Amino acid sequence: LIRVEDLHKSFGSLQVLKGVTEHVNHGEVVSVIGPSGGGKSTFLRCLNLLETPTSGKIYFEGTDITDKNVDINLHRQKMGMVFQHFNVFNNLTVGKNVTLAPVLLGKKTQKEADEMMRELLSRVGLADKENQFPKKLSGGQKQRLAIVRALAMEPDVMLFDEPTSALDPEMVGEVLHVIKDLVKTGMTTVIVTHEMGFAREVSDRVFFMDGGVIAEKGTPDEVFNHPQNPRTQEFLSKVL
Ligand code: ATP
Ligand code: MG
Repeated sequence: LIRVEDLHKSFGSLQVLKGVTEHVNHGEVVSVIGPSGGGKSTFLRCLNLLETPTSGKIYFEGTDITDKNVDINLHRQKMGMVFQHFNVFNNLTVGKNVTLAPVLLGKKTQKEADEMMRELLSRVGLADKENQFPKKLSGGQKQRLAIVRALAMEPDVMLFDEPTSALDPEMVGEVLHVIKDLVKTGMTTVIVTHEMGFAREVSDRVFFMDGGVIAEKGTPDEVFNHPQNPRTQEFLSKVL
């Protein structure tokens, strides 16, 4: 579904990604773990071109989206993204947050979008919040709304960047639960996370990112139980 070839990204003289070649298969769940500053967020943001790669190619559903002639917005609509800090529109009701984009972009009529919105909100336990404004929601509820808002565009892949790390501890579980349910539906998912237990449980593959490269990758069993790279071993010994 996504193929990355020799991806480099620099900010000025700072080389952040130093040649990443990887792929994400349809239906696959990939967790990206690693130390702070290792390039995880930059890698994720390059996948939907929120960051422009310095060099290298990214293929999404067979199209080279780094090609200047490609309409990136069209492809980006197929990639849902959820950030650490809940990206919801505070001046719109919960319901409108979900229906705005699909209606504006002509994917759905308001009526169709409303039906889908109600179904999605009830799936994440927010059915009774449709007419409230986000400022009345807890962090966990806002993040569930952000997930639903992304899902309303019917994406082919969901990208999560530390979706629970800004949450109070008691709200982490409810958001992980929603992501777990989503993964069960077969959604292709790439998630940057510090929740090692979660990564171990839901992932098909784990990428350990350090110093701008994927220093180790494999199944959760391989990466968590039998890490080969000393850097992975050191990182895991600190976080597990
Ligand atoms: P964390 O676990 O702390 O989120 P990360 O692995 O996601 O870390 P990145 O956010 O990708 O790391 O950052 C990698 C490096 O790139 C860091 O040194 C960071 O300061 C730098 N960086 C990231 N974005 C920018 C930017 N827009 N401009 C300049 N430097 C940046
Ligand atoms: Mg990050």
